[in-house]
Amino acid sequence: MQSRVALVTGGTGGIGTSIIRRLAQSGHKVATNYRDEARGRAWQEKMKAEGIDVTIAQGDVASPEGARGLVDEVERQIGPVEILVNNAGITRDTTFHKMSAEQWNEVICTNLNSCFNVTRPVIEGMRARKWGRIIQISSINGQKGQYGQANYAAAKAGMHGFTISLAQENAKFGITVNTVSPGYIGTDMVMAVPEEIREKIVAQIPTGRLGTPDEIAYAVGFFIPDEAGWITGANLSANGGQYMGW
Ligand code: NDP
Repeated sequence: MQSRVALVTGGTGGIGTSIIRRLAQSGHKVATNYRDEARGRAWQEKMKAEGIDVTIAQGDVASPEGARGLVDEVERQIGPVEILVNNAGITRDTTFHKMSAEQWNEVICTNLNSCFNVTRPVIEGMRARKWGRIIQISSINGQKGQYGQANYAAAKAGMHGFTISLAQENAKFGITVNTVSPGYIGTDMVMAVPEEIREKIVAQIPTGRLGTPDEIAYAVGFFIPDEAGWITGANLSANGGQYMGW
């Protein structure tokens, strides 16, 4: 496979780290953002100890300026972004009648606006070079909704609309745009859920277990080779069979 420049937002997190690892092991140059420099550098060192060289740059993807600064810095260091994985995300769970405007906005800005903020500075270059891969990490809860997650489900469902519109606009430019929708994965985000609720979640998963970050990285990797060039506007569910609709 040809070596490409890949930017994975939220690459220091549970799923992001696995995506970075998989892309690097496939021969791509990989980059991600940090918000806290000390934590970012410590994570970079850990990856280095594994033999994986990751370019890191400061960037809050919830803001257009933060995202543009991130893209500029990554492109300055390793070249134009050819693969973009919009993976950064947060939850601020509560039932809607108790939800503050801040909880709503934080989740929409981080999970959905970030897709605009980071994709906008890379799309013109991809179109000019006639090759690109853009992958959104959405969620099962954007497909089926979730009690206590009106903000998160709205953002994650919005990513699907974003994906299929961008897929149409950019198909003629050799750019594919797809979504991966993970089910429940055993990262910090899910381990922060109280144990009794987590047990109830696992009971609803036909495979009888949480997914692993590597299983999501595998789904992301599927969309990248040239052979996947005819697959665009797709949503790949990776959820242990918990939800089998679109
Ligand atoms: P983590 O909490 O482990 O990682 C999230 C990453 O996003 C961190 O690197 C975090 O950086 C980064 N991030 C958060 N906010 C911002 C921001 N404003 N700007 C830049 N970076 C930011 O989460 P996961 O690895 O579990 O989740 C990754 C993605 O997968 C998310 O989009 C999530 O919604 C989605 N997902 C996860 C599931 C799961 O079960 N875990 C299920 C379905 C979807 P920092 O360290 O600075 O906070």
